[in-house]
Amino acid sequence: MEPYSVYIHIPYCKKKCKYCSFLSIPPQPEEMEKYIEAIKSELKFYKPFLSGRKVKSIYIGGGTPSLLEPPQIKEIIATASVSLMLQDNIEITMEANPESISKEKLKSMYNLGINRLSIGLQSFDDNVLNALGRLHDASSALSAIEKARNVGFKNINVDIIYGIPSQDITKELDGIKAVMPEHVSFYYLTIEQGTPLSMDKLFTPLNDDAFQEIYTKVHETLVDAGYEHYEVSNFAKPGFQSIHNMNYWQRGDYLGIGSGAHGFFKTGLPWIGMTAQARYENAYPPSAYIEKVLNTNSSESINFPISRVEVLDTDAETLENIFLSLRTWKGIDIALVKNKNLLSHLIEDGLIKINNERLTLTVKGMCVMDGIVTELF
Ligand code: SF4
Repeated sequence: MEPYSVYIHIPYCKKKCKYCSFLSIPPQPEEMEKYIEAIKSELKFYKPFLSGRKVKSIYIGGGTPSLLEPPQIKEIIATASVSLMLQDNIEITMEANPESISKEKLKSMYNLGINRLSIGLQSFDDNVLNALGRLHDASSALSAIEKARNVGFKNINVDIIYGIPSQDITKELDGIKAVMPEHVSFYYLTIEQGTPLSMDKLFTPLNDDAFQEIYTKVHETLVDAGYEHYEVSNFAKPGFQSIHNMNYWQRGDYLGIGSGAHGFFKTGLPWIGMTAQARYENAYPPSAYIEKVLNTNSSESINFPISRVEVLDTDAETLENIFLSLRTWKGIDIALVKNKNLLSHLIEDGLIKINNERLTLTVKGMCVMDGIVTELF
């Protein structure tokens, strides 16, 4: 049976960043203790339904998972390993923010089996970090990477945000080349309504030409430095592509654990009596999630904390396959293209390439991916 992935959401952050639209609230120690209990219970709920299927990756994301203390991390990983069947060579990633990781904590994380660290670095420039409302500065970010290396981490991802007015992209790229993490996620800053940044008049989105210029520079610099540009926003040294994220882009199954977490199973959700492929979302805020999960007191009447389910038909599946596959360097089978008469002009415009019956986007094409999908499908 096809292995699946597990995402565990830790929805706590000390302070909300100015651009943040993720599910996160300030930590309350009492609630966090109950939250860990709820996570452990929820993991156990799935044991009878997923026995026989192996887990290829676990991703502990947030929020700020590095706010957890080592005993709490240990309990989560220990519960996952007795409730689910973990593959021997499993990838276990944990997100960490520079201000919340000491050398001791990193050492414990590494010794607990976390073999991939994803650091929310965001920028090598203090002015940019300040504008984003981050709690750390560039020197603490560098020191976090150094500490992680010293305790033994050999697979480190660094997140960088671009698209901030006055940001010097060369400084960010020089920063990456100085530390050479195994993986880099370079995300374009999207300004979501309701965030403090959306009310800041200084923050205007890049125009198309500026976006393409920066995107091309990031691509060329990182590829020259030895990275593979294997997904629209992601770069990896050979052999260090994220197993967890590739599972999302290949439309593999994943279990979502924790408040606000999403899950997806092509094989349906038998635990709530559904056989069609579906995506689901867990209850949010954490108090609602905790109440649902911890109110289960018998294995016959489990309170799955699911708040929303979306059943996917074949048309939705095809469209998702196209969108997700085009994001990666593997591209899609040319047979899926509806308007084949448009292919030659997209090739002439340098937006797509076709090799061995597979269509992939060029760097220029990645900048206008949505338009290409609308034209071809
Ligand atoms: S650390 Fe991440 S999740 Fe937390 S407030 Fe900042 S952007 Fe949001």
